Amino acid sequence: MIIEDISFVPEASQSNEWNGIFRMSSIGGCDRALHIQQSTVPALGGGGSAAAQEGHLHEMDVVMRLKAKGYELKYVLDDQETVTLTYAGQEWPNIIGHPDGMISGGSLPKDVWYVLEIKSMGAFVWPRLKDPIQVAFPVYYGQAQFYLHSKPDDYVAAVIWVAKNRSSGELRELVIRRDPQYMDERLAAVSAALEHHKNKDPYTSMECSSSDYVRKYCPYRYMCETGFEDENIPKQVITDLAMREAAQGWRVGKAEKDSGELKIKESRKTLEAALRGEEITKGMLDGLLCQLVDTTKTSYDTDTLFSFIPHQVIDEAREKAGKEKKWTALRVTDKE
Ligand code: SF4
Repeated sequence: MIIEDISFVPEASQSNEWNGIFRMSSIGGCDRALHIQQSTVPALGGGGSAAAQEGHLHEMDVVMRLKAKGYELKYVLDDQETVTLTYAGQEWPNIIGHPDGMISGGSLPKDVWYVLEIKSMGAFVWPRLKDPIQVAFPVYYGQAQFYLHSKPDDYVAAVIWVAKNRSSGELRELVIRRDPQYMDERLAAVSAALEHHKNKDPYTSMECSSSDYVRKYCPYRYMCETGFEDENIPKQVITDLAMREAAQGWRVGKAEKDSGELKIKESRKTLEAALRGEEITKGMLDGLLCQLVDTTKTSYDTDTLFSFIPHQVIDEAREKAGKEKKWTALRVTDKE
């Protein structure tokens, strides 16, 4: 099978040992997470993933389109640079990031460079873009700010942040400018987290400053979430990467199924309205045969129905015609 050759294969294992580095892509989240990540506690959803590979394909698409339009690009795709933070004259070699690239030329002001950041996102998340990015995607906002501040301000003007809807292909663009107040706050949180870790303070010594949205995707959410105890569910965390990929696959599949069902329902409404509007009962619409068919469905209340039948007859019928099969099946419930 060639599919096996080209499919994403999860990494076999990954160390939970902290390497002393804060990634710019995760600083914009929760204060407490900055403390937890310095421990050996496993992060959910870390490492390589099929979703990340998908994201890379969309990034390639956007880069190719920008190139085709004549924009000047550097440090993109396989040539990404590693940046470290220098802010207000202080160097932070332990804060690193990998921006998606740098962009200049085209319709942009002459001789001005921008950090380019590309995010692809699913249809369910896309509507969040109607809110300011600080509210909708605080982690992405933090990432953009740190990338921007890793470049001298006489060289790079802002971040051009491009979002791509994975379902529709729609593109949106934001220009993110320097926000020193934000940087001061996040760096204060980093310093506090380093201090708490050095003092061996419990992770609860730092507050969760996050919105529900950030908590939902926080890699340490299993440490802080409550509610499982009430349901008597063992708070066991599976950290094996293949299992994490399977959980992610279930979520992605469920989201696609739900969105597919919604699309079918909406399309049915439109198609039916088209037939009724034309006052016809049958028609070919873009290769689909659509028909209004008379349907009758009779349903019975089984309790009432059985009340007309003697019990012995029901029991005998059950015994002769009924088949009982018992097995243990997996039930998955998304607790997020
Ligand atoms: S669940 Fe909340 S408090 Fe806990 S680490 Fe994540 S964002 Fe922070």
